[in-house]
Amino acid sequence: MAGRSPYRLPADRLETRFGEKAPPLSKGEAVAEAARCLYCYDAPCIPACPTHIDIPTFIRKIATGNLKGSARTILESNLLGASCARVCPVEVLCEGSCVYTGWGRKPIEIGRLQRYAMDGAASVNLLRKAPSTGRSVGLVGAGPASLACAGALALLGHSPVLYEKEDLPGGLNTTGVAPYKMKGENALAEVDFIRDLGAEIRTGVEVGADVTAEDLLAAHEALFVGIGLGADSKLDVPGADGPGVVGAVEWIRRLKTDPAFSLDGIQNAAVIGGGNTALDAVQELAKLGVRSVRLVYRRRAEEMKGYRHEWSQAKQDGVSIVAEAVVTEVVRGQGASIRELKLVKARGGRPTEEPLDPLPADLVLVAVGQAKLRRFAASLPGVEVDDRGRILVDPETGATGNPRIFAGGDAVNGGKEVVNAAAEGQRAAAGIHARLESATAR
Ligand code: SF4
Repeated sequence: MAGRSPYRLPADRLETRFGEKAPPLSKGEAVAEAARCLYCYDAPCIPACPTHIDIPTFIRKIATGNLKGSARTILESNLLGASCARVCPVEVLCEGSCVYTGWGRKPIEIGRLQRYAMDGAASVNLLRKAPSTGRSVGLVGAGPASLACAGALALLGHSPVLYEKEDLPGGLNTTGVAPYKMKGENALAEVDFIRDLGAEIRTGVEVGADVTAEDLLAAHEALFVGIGLGADSKLDVPGADGPGVVGAVEWIRRLKTDPAFSLDGIQNAAVIGGGNTALDAVQELAKLGVRSVRLVYRRRAEEMKGYRHEWSQAKQDGVSIVAEAVVTEVVRGQGASIRELKLVKARGGRPTEEPLDPLPADLVLVAVGQAKLRRFAASLPGVEVDDRGRILVDPETGATGNPRIFAGGDAVNGGKEVVNAAAEGQRAAAGIHARLESATAR
């Protein structure tokens, strides 16, 4: 992995206080764990990975001391193998499908083995790059989908240029992943890896404001749209507009990037929602020492959309839940600081008139979804969005209704894992390549 980065994170941000959920394996641990793998024929762990990494092959190479070969096997299927090794929900993907899991035994630690190979040996020199085609492709956004697409395009000989409105590239990998899974510097190291493959990244450039989509279509032979999702959805109740009520994605971004960010004085935090962002946020608050952390969810705990294993971990961290409850007001005291939340009982996820005991809170994180960037997507010529604001694409190629515009990642799938974005970005790169080749043949 490239060692230097032009992108800088402040040294004293809060995310540096977190330990690692899955610390790196030593050489002895990795070889012993690799030797436990049965190298299954028709291994069920492979199709469970959205990028179809040949898992038994990369694990066998670790067991035989061929670390470079192992990293190459991973990268040939997934250029974001380093971040996926840290952030993938392996419990429900590869490790959840491992034959050992089916036998009620501990699965092979595929994620940690992948990290061992990637951290130890990943290098652009492992990958074969096609001669330059002289063709350039513009990519809107520099999150995981665009990075994976750009890396694959560079390997095919094309010249990808990414346009990112933020100062730091990497999207949610840099600013949104729970810090006990991955730190910002790991995300930026992977950005460097994609740059070293031949991608150019222009940060601080907002498409639609600083340049137009038409400018990009004139400058490049094709476009990839990897814009992700928009701002946090808001809590629409009296008192919610004001200090102390923050969107969870924005709160995590500040935790990971803002040296002035602090939790001083916060004793009672409430996180509204039941998805994976909410479950990340409650664990972060608890691990940072906030005395009382509660999840407020409008359905029963077992109906949460977030992963079971994340909720189990949150409970171990001391998080509790106020289930079947809906916030009706944020009550403020002196100086506009939050005092408590008024709640009513919910049935079937819908609020009733039945009041519940108020919940003391001095910080409220809202994790009830993110807006879709529907307006931008729909402004692109020939690009259609569905009734939920997701860009419509051909699932085989990532092509939109405009033959020169492709898309992938959260803007298409509505918000999934980094590994899904990687798979969709790479699939779109193949689609763009086929399109450029066919245009040449005509
Ligand atoms: Fe190894 Fe488990 Fe995959 Fe079989 S299913 S190849 S044991 S990781």
